[in-house]
Amino acid sequence: MSNVHELNYLKEEIDALKNAGTFRKLATLQGANGPVVMLDGKEVINMSSNNYLGLATNEEMKKAAIEAVEKYGVGSGAVRTIIGNMDIHEKLEEKLAEFKREEATMVFQSGFNCNAGAIQAITSKGDLIISDSLNHASIIDGVRLSRADKAIFQHSDMEDLEKVLKEKRENYKNCLIITDGVFSMDGDLAKLPEIVELAEKYNAMTYVDDAHGSGVLGENGRGTIDHFNLHGRIDFSIGTLSKAIGVIGGYVAGSKVMKEWLINRGRPILFSTSLPPAAIAAATKSVELLMESSEYTDRLWDNAKFFKEKLGKLGFNTGKSETPITPVIIGDEAKSLEFSQKLFDNGVFVSPIIFPTVAKGTGRVRCMISAAHSKENLAKAVDVFEKVGKEMNLI
Ligand SMILES: *Cc1c(COP(=O)(O)O)cnc(C)c1O
Repeated sequence: MSNVHELNYLKEEIDALKNAGTFRKLATLQGANGPVVMLDGKEVINMSSNNYLGLATNEEMKKAAIEAVEKYGVGSGAVRTIIGNMDIHEKLEEKLAEFKREEATMVFQSGFNCNAGAIQAITSKGDLIISDSLNHASIIDGVRLSRADKAIFQHSDMEDLEKVLKEKRENYKNCLIITDGVFSMDGDLAKLPEIVELAEKYNAMTYVDDAHGSGVLGENGRGTIDHFNLHGRIDFSIGTLSKAIGVIGGYVAGSKVMKEWLINRGRPILFSTSLPPAAIAAATKSVELLMESSEYTDRLWDNAKFFKEKLGKLGFNTGKSETPITPVIIGDEAKSLEFSQKLFDNGVFVSPIIFPTVAKGTGRVRCMISAAHSKENLAKAVDVFEKVGKEMNLI
């Protein structure tokens, strides 16, 4: 008889993943997440991080983190409601509200746990959640945790969204439409102006997860809602402090009522320790840097434009991205994996993305451009793309 502690049922699943070619191992960085990194002992240009503005290694933010550690220690000591709530937590929330041009913000420990906590807190039995088919995994999990009924609309298909609203809205008390602001695999934007119109027409609330839009789109990185000038018309605006902001954390921006409710019913606020002082201070400094200057976002967009133009001229298919996310669509899954491996061998790290993360036959590598890349980094990466692309007959 086999020993249950050998976890054979998991080993079988792992073997199945290996047979399917979808088993994952972790690569390891030997040092900071910058534009050029040491990855598994090899120096490569890093086109696989969400550190859009290069702020993960910003000197002023590091200094703010160190000072906070000196004054406040390394841990916050408790969940927010039983005094893991320091003046620096409140200062960050005030700064963020000012930045996002909203009444209030509520900070969570990550973007993931913000969705897991907020969606279930603001919906209940008798409500309806309508969610875009390509929404992020943390939204899907957040929706699962809610006791509301759920419906999906086809990705960015406004006719389908209206169909769901028309068929179902009147059977429910509250209705919440949830969408990513920026879809991370293709870099396309949600059709927020249309979504808001439909929400207003059918008396529904809106919830926008702008993890890839905050720090990237809008004035000085205020996000997708600012980009479309929809302030005051989105009920729940979610952002992350982990990507462009360069640290860790997530938040909901919106009304004071939202904040009061999440303090009382947001489970990660009530049952998980708040972010440590170093993270809070660094994130606050990051928001201050963005409010002071557009230099970071300007450089990001300039770099993205430069890189996209060059790849397009070489004949690569960079899809329909409207953001610095630059997919290079190959199609075939195995070829996408091979392309990524050969780019790595030639000094450029770009993640391959294949089914089931994206639809079958749309395998790709996804280039994440950062303000921290120098033009030399980008030009070298373009040369490597050209060399490997020609070797593999992709261009
Ligand atoms: C990355 C991401 C998250 C998770 O944010 P973390 O702060 O890394 O936990 C949530 N939603 C979307 C759309 C994301 O892209």
